[in-house]
Amino acid sequence: MNNKIIYSNNGKYFIENIAVDEIEKKFDTPAYVYSKKSILDSYRSFEEAFKTSNHLICFAVKANPNLAILNLLANHGAGFDIVSGGELQRVIAAKGDPKKVVFSGIGKSSKEIELAIHHQILAFNIESEPELYRIQAIAQKMGKIANISVRVNPNVDAKTHPYISTGLKDNKFGVDEQKAIELYKIANNMDSIAIRGIDCHIGSQITELSPFIDSIAKLVGIIDKLKVLGIHIAHLDIGGGIGINYENEKPPNFKAYAEAILPLLEKQNLKIIFEPGRAILGKAGVLLTKVEYVKKGSTKNFAIIDAAMNDLMRPSLYNAYHDIINTSQSSESSAQFDVVGPVCETGDFIGKDRMLSLEEGNVLAVVDVGAYGMSMSSNYNSRVRPVELLVDENKIIEIRKRENFNDLIRGESII
Ligand SMILES: *Cc1c(COP(=O)(O)O)cnc(C)c1O
Repeated sequence: MNNKIIYSNNGKYFIENIAVDEIEKKFDTPAYVYSKKSILDSYRSFEEAFKTSNHLICFAVKANPNLAILNLLANHGAGFDIVSGGELQRVIAAKGDPKKVVFSGIGKSSKEIELAIHHQILAFNIESEPELYRIQAIAQKMGKIANISVRVNPNVDAKTHPYISTGLKDNKFGVDEQKAIELYKIANNMDSIAIRGIDCHIGSQITELSPFIDSIAKLVGIIDKLKVLGIHIAHLDIGGGIGINYENEKPPNFKAYAEAILPLLEKQNLKIIFEPGRAILGKAGVLLTKVEYVKKGSTKNFAIIDAAMNDLMRPSLYNAYHDIINTSQSSESSAQFDVVGPVCETGDFIGKDRMLSLEEGNVLAVVDVGAYGMSMSSNYNSRVRPVELLVDENKIIEIRKRENFNDLIRGESII
């Protein structure tokens, strides 16, 4: 399936109507480049798949928190899944609606809880008993009502990388069924808590439908038990986690996803909430990077590029695969390369054993990096973070400037 945002026409590469060499000339490398059309196409096809149901798509901010992207999605009706107070402030700065915000995460601080209650968010996804007590106490002190749902750990195998699997009973996330019911009973007697929903999020980069089906069955079972106790649940939040095709994966499309899960909810009068991140943004971004040096060895060839693990962490962290395309002409014959950055770590690589025809100065595109690319970047090795650009047909919009040395040392002082 060729659903890359970068394409070639007569040997020249483009993103939407903009030539890659034009982007490189104007903004240099490394650069994250997103396609507005790709973001909206994904968002709209998700919407379209669920149009017959009462639903809300809460984009997972951590996948890509750039204000322009949050604003774009907010303008098209999206809500947001946040995991920190900083993300809530980003949503507000991007003109998102806090009443469409769900707040996940196991370590919500008192300050973050207060901020979220102040903005009357749609729901706190409660991950433990002490968190429930803390939220009740803070809401009571503020004279406000806090909306909650309980994050259930449905103990299903998402069949994904262990680092991004969150729905097994040994994970730190959520509570088991028995504990969930106990929490609902406690919450039902709290004067500053309003029970709204039930929630789960079982992992990321999931490419099969069965884990979602199993989770919904589990959650619906709990809803039925709560009904008997006189506790009403208004929404079911199935979390995010739908995968994308990085290499040879065959993730379900949104239509197949809808067809698999909607029948399970037919008899329930529930609003469905989704928390997708990767499935909306993953395909929509590339990282443009230049070849600094070609280093040929007796056993390995290295293409040393100007982007590194600090810019794109997924290969180093998860051994994740991203396709790498040379967007420049090269007369060199193709050879096998490890594509590596300048950072002083053996784990600093972007791709291994790639057949590429390349030479110094060529511009490579690392594809499918719209989600968990820039958002996981750091300044390790005192490297400034890349510029972020949004291409909209014939326009290039600079949505985050490249950092400079002053950004690197902001807040520091010498004694
Ligand atoms: C990370 C995360 C998401 C988004 O996951 P994707 O795989 O990007 O869809 C959604 N909900 C929660 C609670 C998360 O932690």
